[in-house]
Amino acid sequence: MPLDKAKAPFTLPKLPYADDALAPVISANTISFHYGKHHATYVKVLNELIAGTAYEALSMEEIVVRSATDKDAAAKKIFNNAAQAWNHEFYWHSMTPKGGAPTGKIKDALEKNFGGLDAFKKAFSQAATGQFGSGWAWLVKGKDGALKIETTSNADTPIAHGGTPLLVADVWEHAYYLDYQNRRPDHVAAWLDKLVNWSFAEKNLT
Ligand code: MN
Repeated sequence: MPLDKAKAPFTLPKLPYADDALAPVISANTISFHYGKHHATYVKVLNELIAGTAYEALSMEEIVVRSATDKDAAAKKIFNNAAQAWNHEFYWHSMTPKGGAPTGKIKDALEKNFGGLDAFKKAFSQAATGQFGSGWAWLVKGKDGALKIETTSNADTPIAHGGTPLLVADVWEHAYYLDYQNRRPDHVAAWLDKLVNWSFAEKNLT
């Protein structure tokens, strides 16, 4: 996992590109709410929830994993905010203004596991579009090393279940509604064609 290993209090991680770099697929207006309000709020609320608790000594990833199985009544809120903070940081890195076709090991892995890029896109698009309500669509490396497409609901995340995420698409309405309204399939298709950061996926694979 290449993401930040910082401890509390957490700060909103910097975007890896300018706020208008993903337009027209994702507008600067969407980024201003999605990053500047939604993601920022998950980080702020998490800091408030863990202040003075044992979670304060852990990294974000450790908080996600531990709170997922914590039976304490407060843990569900901690999980939701930590997982959303983690998922969003991973999501920003899953995109690049220079998306396109994969190369190298990730290209080979898509061939082996899905039969190629087009078949992968079709399966990912079906999963992302079919996720009912809010959630995430992931490309994950399972414990057996095989690549799989998974969806999770709300804040849930593969790192709480032992999977290794390679890429994620946010399919909460806040990720696309200002630009695509209810047309999630159109957003996902453009996301796959123009924004996927295949070199990030390859780094996570190896
Ligand atoms: Mn989101």
